Formats: sequence, C-alpha cells, structure tokens
Amino acid sequence: MIHPEHQRRAYLRAMGIDVWLPRNSAEPGIGSEAEFVLEPEVLSDDKFAGGMDWAELRDCVSNCTHCELAQSRTNTVFGVGNPDADWLIVGEAPGAEEDRRGEPFVGRAGKLLDEMLRAIGQSRDSVFIANILKCRPPNNRDPKAEEAAACRQYLERQVELLQPKIILAVGRIAAQNLLGSDEPVGRMRGRRHDLDGIPLIVTYHPAYLLRSPSQKSKSWSDLCLATRLVAEISA
Ligand code: URA
Repeated sequence: MIHPEHQRRAYLRAMGIDVWLPRNSAEPGIGSEAEFVLEPEVLSDDKFAGGMDWAELRDCVSNCTHCELAQSRTNTVFGVGNPDADWLIVGEAPGAEEDRRGEPFVGRAGKLLDEMLRAIGQSRDSVFIANILKCRPPNNRDPKAEEAAACRQYLERQVELLQPKIILAVGRIAAQNLLGSDEPVGRMRGRRHDLDGIPLIVTYHPAYLLRSPSQKSKSWSDLCLATRLVAEISA
C-alpha cells in the first residue's frame, strides 16, 4: 500500500509545491517536531514543467522518472497533433501498442477515435491528443493516484501551451482526473464543465464504445455539443 504521506508528497510535487522534510527522519515527512530542510531532489528545475516550451516539455517527459512506470515503459507517449489546435482530446493512458510506438490512440480504440473526429470535421492532425498518463501502466491497469498526480504537471503545461477552445475528456479516468470528480461518465457527459475557464465535455471512451456500440449515439450528441461550444467561442 502507498503510504498516505508519500501520496501527499507526490501531489504536492506535481503541483509545483516545495516539500519540506524532517532532518534525521527514517520515514521522511512523518516526523512532527523535527527541524525541516528543503528536500534537494525537489529543487532541481527538471521536476517542474511550468514555463517550458513544447520542445523542452517533450524532452522532459521522455526523460521522466517521477513514478514507477518509468521502469516498465518502452516509450513515453507525449501526445500528437497540432500545437495550435482548438480541440484537446484527453484519454487515459497508453496501451501496449501506444507504448511500442510512442503515439496515443493507435490501436482499435484509436481507429474509432479517428472516425469520431472525422464525423465532426476534425482529424488526428487538426486536434491535439494526449493522455492523463504519459507511460503505460503494466497490463493496462487503471492509473494509480500518485502516477496521475506525478504526471499532471505535463498535461497542465500542454493545456497552457495549447490554450484549446475545448477539451474533450474520453472515458472515466480522463474525466475524473481532470475534474477531480468520482462521478461515473454517464452522469458527467451531456453537459458543459470547465477546466480553468476552458469548456470541457465528457464522453465515453472509444474502447467502451467498441464494447457497447449502442452508446455511440450518446457520444455523438456529446461531440455535437462540443462542436456547438467551439462555434460559439469562435463567433
Ligand atoms: N486508450 C487511451 O486512453 N489512450 C491511448 O493512448 C490509447 C488507448
């Protein structure tokens, strides 16, 4: 089990907040009256994505060792698409094929995502596609909270650099992480949310739609809602 204090520190680091540790503590951060020193590890600039340009950010992600997934990945999956895109699509995490190729959504679910984008006049090259995690969780398990927290600064910087007109969160993991919610997709979809002032629409993950094609019509109406919002913003 992850110690809650370690998890708290991972969140703080990911938010760019300095973590103070007790001197001479066997269990860092868990002492009470101890003298505190700034942990040298968190002082290094490469821990923080804020202020980086696209090239620096990509480089930082490809060298990232902030969580245990660095040990098992083949490639980091930074994201793909147009750095001036109006649309940011956010999925969960790379799968086996994505890990092999270093590109998001290249498997069967990716093909369906391409179809969904085509239906709204977009493509892999016109939008930007990223994930909550840049590395593949072994056996495609759900991302752990501390992995999502450690990776969050990268997605936040991608959002800052892109300034998209709309964010489309595909699937439960993306929606819950972006919105800090534990609601199921069925309750989050179909209405507008906001992430730092950017409209955000939740819809089903294409992998789920492959298993439950009867839900595709709901996803289509989510895409239409997102398209309307972009048109309103652009008017
Ligand atoms: N599923 C995701 O959420 N992301 C990918 O990149 C591939 C599959």
